[in-house]
Amino acid sequence: MKYFAPPVERLIEHFERLPGIGYKSAQRLAFHVLSLPKEEAESFAEAIVDAKNKVFCCSVCQNLTDQEICPICQSASRDKGIICVVTDPRDVIAIERTREYNGLYHVLHGVISPLSGVGPDDLKIRELVSRLGTEPVTELIMATNPDTEGEATAMYLTRLLKPFG
Ligand SMILES: [Zn+2]
Repeated sequence: MKYFAPPVERLIEHFERLPGIGYKSAQRLAFHVLSLPKEEAESFAEAIVDAKNKVFCCSVCQNLTDQEICPICQSASRDKGIICVVTDPRDVIAIERTREYNGLYHVLHGVISPLSGVGPDDLKIRELVSRLGTEPVTELIMATNPDTEGEATAMYLTRLLKPFG
């Protein structure tokens, strides 16, 4: 049974689909949005649409960017010989924060996970292989998570990329 007006129910449903949000939290967020001034609610909705329209994957490293080629790939001061392979764009931010890495990245956008039905073709692996054919890469660093799926993905890549030396 629905307790709220349909537009409110719809808002709650959308919040509930977000990761880590249950029905109670979704309700709380929906009511918070309803209590916002109109301009602020509109600006929130616009930010979602704007991010969705303007952010896509860098054509080289697959990191999220609003440019065809992201600032890291474009930078003249980065070491183009090293590629650090990561699972997700948040890993790039985490490594950048350490300020100890000056090479390039490759973002896989996930890990191989047979249980969740994610295979190598669902990740940006083909893009990585093609980079090895065109860029002066001398070193690959596997920085996937040290859990089972992360290790399996790193192992798969190591085997796949061996022929490139
Ligand atoms: Zn890039």
